[in-house]
Amino acid sequence: MSNWEKNVRKVVPYVPGEQPKLTSMIKLNTNENPYPPAPGVAKALASYDVDKERLYPDPTADVLVSALAKYHGIDKENVFVGVGSDDVLSMCFLTFFNGERPILFPDITYSFYDVWAGLYRIPYKTKALDEDFNIVPEDYFEENGGVVFANPNAPTGALMSLEGIRTILEHNRDVVVIADEAYIDFGGDTALPLIREFDNLLVVRTFSKSRSMAGTRIGYAMGDKKIIKYLNDAKFSFNSYTMNRTSLAMGAASVEDEEYFRKTIDRIVATRERVKKELKTLGFTFADSKSNFIFASYKTKKAEDIFTALREENIFVRYFKKPRIDNYLRITIGTDEEMDTLISFLKKYL
Ligand code: PMP
Repeated sequence: MSNWEKNVRKVVPYVPGEQPKLTSMIKLNTNENPYPPAPGVAKALASYDVDKERLYPDPTADVLVSALAKYHGIDKENVFVGVGSDDVLSMCFLTFFNGERPILFPDITYSFYDVWAGLYRIPYKTKALDEDFNIVPEDYFEENGGVVFANPNAPTGALMSLEGIRTILEHNRDVVVIADEAYIDFGGDTALPLIREFDNLLVVRTFSKSRSMAGTRIGYAMGDKKIIKYLNDAKFSFNSYTMNRTSLAMGAASVEDEEYFRKTIDRIVATRERVKKELKTLGFTFADSKSNFIFASYKTKKAEDIFTALREENIFVRYFKKPRIDNYLRITIGTDEEMDTLISFLKKYL
């Protein structure tokens, strides 16, 4: 090791899902939305004045923050935006998990949480999901440095009730609690109303799934004005201009089209419910997903083998070689056609 390497902040990075370069494939591996963004998003991009690229964007991201505040019926001071929810969550870890006690999160959850903990040297402890992959709220009652969970959880799709979240909050009044709601638009009750009651709660959302805008990179957090102010202080000490001009215009256009948003979600939920039935008939087992993916296991064939066989057909799903979940496949809900191709392959293969 060279001398300078002793001072390197060494990290084990997050591994994102594969983005294959194929022109024709069925891509069900990164929970993207199979439908295009709202028509207004294309219009915002088409009418964008490229000359404006000379200028820095609005550091307060006001058009987007205002649109989101109006949409959720809260004030602008309750909203923080970032470059995808990964950026927002990373900023939350940096800002709020600065104590000596370990932060808590489930053993099976979004695999970026332990990466940020590693990056920022935050001590952490994981709490096992129960056998049905549910979060056990009582596990989060012990003293800690903060709590983060995804609801619905990833990669399981399982939902925690609002009462469960409330009990976690009631037992964690002295630390920040983050509810990562990347998939909440596909089912379940949001913790958002609780931000009025708990000033230590942050609710984090993304445009990558329900708004079909993974490529644009927009995420946001909602919380009490004080907690959002702390987030902004950290952001303005890091990078004033996180949101570029096109993202701001496209994001605001998406928020303005509620009808399209609902229609797209309804379509995905209808496909998800149909695919659940088909997978069950084929003999798959899975937790009841309220997200845009199903985390499924098959008794007599290894998930890794099914994953490889699907890949050979250019059907991409996600497989995690990790304890407790190494016999599961995470299958994103695509279009009806895509799911039909997947099901007919499985019928032949199994
Ligand atoms: N949270 C969860 C639970 C996720 O699954 C993802 C998607 N990988 C994210 C956050 C981050 O999404 P994005 O950065 O695209 O907003």
